[in-house]
Amino acid sequence: DAQDVASGDEKELRAPICCILGHVDAGKTKLLDCIRGTHVQEREAGGITQQIGATYLPAENIRDRTSLKAETAIKVPGLLVIDTPGHESFSKMRSRGLSMCDVAVVVVDITKGLEKQTVESLHLLRRHNVSFIVALNKVDRLYGWKECTNAPIVEALKKQSDDVKSEYKWRLTKVVTDFKENGFNTAPYYENNKKKKVVNIAPTSAESGEGVPDLLLLLVRWLPDIITDKLAYDDTVECTVLEVNEHKDLGTTVDVVLINGVLRQGDQVIVCTKQGPVTTIIRDLLTPHPMKELKAKGAYKHHKEVRAGQGVKIVARTCKEGIYVQASSVGTLEAIIAHLKSSSVDIPVYAWNLGPVY
Ligand code: GDP
Repeated sequence: DAQDVASGDEKELRAPICCILGHVDAGKTKLLDCIRGTHVQEREAGGITQQIGATYLPAENIRDRTSLKAETAIKVPGLLVIDTPGHESFSKMRSRGLSMCDVAVVVVDITKGLEKQTVESLHLLRRHNVSFIVALNKVDRLYGWKECTNAPIVEALKKQSDDVKSEYKWRLTKVVTDFKENGFNTAPYYENNKKKKVVNIAPTSAESGEGVPDLLLLLVRWLPDIITDKLAYDDTVECTVLEVNEHKDLGTTVDVVLINGVLRQGDQVIVCTKQGPVTTIIRDLLTPHPMKELKAKGAYKHHKEVRAGQGVKIVARTCKEGIYVQASSVGTLEAIIAHLKSSSVDIPVYAWNLGPVY
């Protein structure tokens, strides 16, 4: 690994953006809580920040939660996990949510195997060509499971009785067969020698944390090798809008996930809306304060600039002050940019999509 780093022409990589999919009750919310450390002690939550629609985990935090040696290289600065909205609203924006993701975690309940929404998620992932990892969740529900809080899964499995081990094995085999029937080759990650072709299964318990460090490690260690080019940091702004709101004090706010590039106060941006492109200026960039600072400092932290990948609330100058681009043709982004270039706008122009692209 040390050699990897020393080899020189390494590209700067950005944090991968990850979403969590799966059938209702498979444990998506619980797993997210576990990843975020919502319930962990402050000491262990080191550096985790809650963002707009997302949670950022620094690589250091992930390293600390695993048995990785300090000198082992992690090529990405961290991991941005999209907070899956409630079941109904998420299904509406699943396509858009997915199109901004570099990787998905598909949560499967080990006691239930593949269910309807799991299979739907698989089709979506294939259509969008998104890499994924299977979190084979609720291993603690195997009859007689001995809890090994937050342990790597291989260690936790070693501590189990033969009965638990054999139940684990047949349930795992069943899931692998189900995946095969849906056209995917899968294998538990600790036995997977063909990580580019065979999908990793990471057994987890969102309840007691077994296997969760392994899952996180796969996301920051395995993934960057698979999609290095996609994760190469690029100055060109790439942004996806989650929500536009009228805030009583702030005016129009636009919640975005910044996938690439930098946003700065004063930047001019184009929002591509269903009514056509709208140009506006960034007045402020906000992220939530950590809980303990909420009272003292108000709800939001202000930023002069924000660098990808992060979730951020843009306070836009009201659109009246911005420049409206004639929306006769709700064209492609290229067309919008061409239009702006041909007009007298000479401020850097950033663009992103609003609304379902598909
Ligand atoms: P979602 O619908 O996929 O978001 O599922 P939830 O996270 O709401 O979980 C559904 C139920 O399963 C809740 O009662 C959770 O407490 C429980 N649950 C989720 N993950 C685990 C797990 O790993 N082990 C156990 N024992 N229960 C879990």
